[in-house]
Amino acid sequence: MSWGYFTLHKSCLTTDCSIASRSPTENIGRIISELCNALPPVDPQALCFAVHDGKVHNPLGAGSYIFEKVYVPSLVRFMDLPLDESDFTSRKRATTSTAIIHIGAQPNNSPHAGTIIVFALAFLIARDIKKLYEELRKGDISEEFKSWIDDIGIEVRLDLVDTAPDNRSGCFLQGIAYQRSQRHTQAYHSYLPDYEEIMRSAADFVGGDIPYKIFTQENLTTMPSIPRIINAIVKDRKRLGNELAPVSHSLAMRCACPHQGCGLAEKHGRMNKYLVDASGVATISFHCPDHGDHTITTSNPADVGRLEFNTPLRNLVRAEAFGIHTINSREAAHNALAVGEGEKICEYVHMRVTGSDYAGMYSEQLLFRQLPLLSASGLGAIPTPVIAYAPLVLDWAGSKLSKSLYVKEGAYKYLQEAGMGYLLSFADMKESGRDHRILFGEVARWLEDPKKLFRSYTVNYLHRVFEDQRCKDTKDN
Ligand SMILES: [Zn+2]
Repeated sequence: MSWGYFTLHKSCLTTDCSIASRSPTENIGRIISELCNALPPVDPQALCFAVHDGKVHNPLGAGSYIFEKVYVPSLVRFMDLPLDESDFTSRKRATTSTAIIHIGAQPNNSPHAGTIIVFALAFLIARDIKKLYEELRKGDISEEFKSWIDDIGIEVRLDLVDTAPDNRSGCFLQGIAYQRSQRHTQAYHSYLPDYEEIMRSAADFVGGDIPYKIFTQENLTTMPSIPRIINAIVKDRKRLGNELAPVSHSLAMRCACPHQGCGLAEKHGRMNKYLVDASGVATISFHCPDHGDHTITTSNPADVGRLEFNTPLRNLVRAEAFGIHTINSREAAHNALAVGEGEKICEYVHMRVTGSDYAGMYSEQLLFRQLPLLSASGLGAIPTPVIAYAPLVLDWAGSKLSKSLYVKEGAYKYLQEAGMGYLLSFADMKESGRDHRILFGEVARWLEDPKKLFRSYTVNYLHRVFEDQRCKDTKDN
């Protein structure tokens, strides 16, 4: 028996656009009959139907109320970039600035609609920041400010989490979980072309003049500030372990076993041993079930480059690293200006676009709460991270549409049966002849009316967006 759930609306039930003139309530019997006839064998007794009026509401509240009309300029302000002449003259600390808009992905499957939305939003925000400064430049501003605008860099960076586990390659021994990363098994290479294609396509969609880069976790862990960040985290490991990992109470810091061909890393860091010397340098021992302990020290940058973290710890390390990058680049620019060598120094500011499942308690307690606490334990203050949250894609029950990794096999079968399986995978989207740029266009409409970014969207809503476009294309042809 297959269970399914469908919301009925005249425009999403059929490719026959003539039905658009009928009311669902007038034709409910016919609509259900058509729907059942159009589906693969599904037990009609098991189907759940909901009828709606097709009207979409975007009520204001909280963030949408505040940022309804000034969304992208607010992001620019939060990154501490100038929005007018007085902002510009009061800073004077860098001759050039580059804003890096980060997105991330665990490349363990073909990206689904939610990931495509996040990617699109990053490029669209970059485009709008660029447009904002092009408009500012046309105004009555100083030559110096114009010159700064001419030089500003805005780029998108995809940080691939190649340290995410390859779930086909781990083990569980004596109550301890071990994993091999995608970096070690190289499993993610089979999905990488999908991510590269979406990046290329999103860059083209916004006009082709937003540069982008694709980085891996090694680009993060080899940043000069990382050893200092790891030292501070290790020093504060008891509190951080309790707060970031309330089940294991341990820092989920990992390092792949260096033994030839092994690569196992202990998932939760339960077996890790830490030593901190008088100067604050940390030495960390990791356990391999086959080859025993192996050790790294933060005084060796090559060692630190091999570290891996679980998601909340990585989020914290990354925020600290990008914040310190901003502070250090600003200070270098300021110092260079003071001795007349400002031309070559650029300040770097960072922001992040991510799904709104990371908003709320996750961000507040696991990130924002931790920054001042780490600052007080010797790391120093950093600028508050700037995060734009992309709307979530929800299933019929209001649950986040998940990568199949996290749900039972056979989940979302009803979506496949209803012809909506393409929302689960970019590869399927392409195979079914659906144009993913329809999603880009939808996200662009949300950004034009930013209150639409402060909410979620169901798979049924997005399917309707695709179907509406198909109807328009049919009429145009
Ligand atoms: Zn080993």
